[in-house]
Amino acid sequence: MKKRIAKQPTATERLVRPLVRALHPYTPGEQPKVPGLVKLNTNENPYPPAPAVLKAIKAAVDQRLRLYPDPTAAPLRERLARLHRCQPENIIVGNGSDELLALATRAFVEPAESSRLTAQGMSLSTVQYFDPSYSLYPVLAAIHGARHNAVPLHGDFELPLLSWLRRGVQWDLRAALSYLTTPNAPGGRGYPTADLDALADLHKGVLILDEAYADFAGENALHLALKHPHVIVSRTFSKAYSLCFQRVGYFVGPVELIDTLHRIRDSYNVNGLGQVAAEATLDHLDYYRANFKKIVAAREQTAEALARFGFEVFPSQTNFLLVRPPRLSAEAWMEKLRERKVLVRWLPAPAVRAYLRITIGTPEQMEKLLAAVKAVVAEGET
Ligand SMILES: *Cc1c(COP(=O)(O)O)cnc(C)c1O
Repeated sequence: MKKRIAKQPTATERLVRPLVRALHPYTPGEQPKVPGLVKLNTNENPYPPAPAVLKAIKAAVDQRLRLYPDPTAAPLRERLARLHRCQPENIIVGNGSDELLALATRAFVEPAESSRLTAQGMSLSTVQYFDPSYSLYPVLAAIHGARHNAVPLHGDFELPLLSWLRRGVQWDLRAALSYLTTPNAPGGRGYPTADLDALADLHKGVLILDEAYADFAGENALHLALKHPHVIVSRTFSKAYSLCFQRVGYFVGPVELIDTLHRIRDSYNVNGLGQVAAEATLDHLDYYRANFKKIVAAREQTAEALARFGFEVFPSQTNFLLVRPPRLSAEAWMEKLRERKVLVRWLPAPAVRAYLRITIGTPEQMEKLLAAVKAVVAEGET
């Protein structure tokens, strides 16, 4: 075995905490500015916000930009509380749900070096999630100096059986914080609420159900956040509500946990135009629900078409498909589609490097994708 020689930090590097020096940042999908590119790589919604939402944002761009926004996004939280039949105290809004996921590590997890492994029956420094799932979770754990426990999903991205999870062999039911992406990303599969409810019963620590894609699914688990004292549901206006640019996400959960997060967030963590946009969005849910239907229909059609081209397509309850392409490697497929101005996501992580993740766009965009796929297939046959 070759011994790795630790590189001496430079004088400037020495100014930075060793933990931070060693961090690998989260890699977001590309945002290339190529004209005519069909962009299917970051699960953005292909449809614009409702016209009235754009109007509300524009109308808010006036002298009030010099003022601080509502510090707790109170009007938005009241609207969300009505929507979800809970109290505003059950809700915290963040600068995207990513901010809230990060706050959760700070609020619920002890950095590993400063704590004993377990106390009061809890693994106080453990952040846990299934693999593959949202690749931000391990980054958040690393930033916080927490342990992370990545437990492989079974077979085709299915949740391990409850009877296996209950044994607590790999999945630690005492982990301080567990993230569960449902429907899963990048797998696409939805998990039955009844299973999540039963899993929640077994957990001692905080369980965050990350429902970034719930609007494209047949069911959701929101009520579990109002039933269990340790369950939080994460939602976002980014994907389903066409507001990635504005950065607005929220948690629904028990008052005590939500209150803890309020204590550690920045005073004005949600920008004013984002609050305006999200409130206006809630006035036009019918517009968005019609878009969900279009996206789900395009998803099912695209899945069938790709299967006919020899792709293995996993069932999806989201606005994307995870597929295993035929013949060439997934990375080669990504390059070949890119040459044809269709950008899809290839993730190099071991659990998913054999697959492509394809965001569902408009029917026109899906036609362009399928035309590019057809061309690549034909190229392979000559
Ligand atoms: C996109 C995404 C998020 C982050 O959403 P923002 O609200 O834009 O920060 C969180 N979780 C999952 C699984 C996602 O795919």
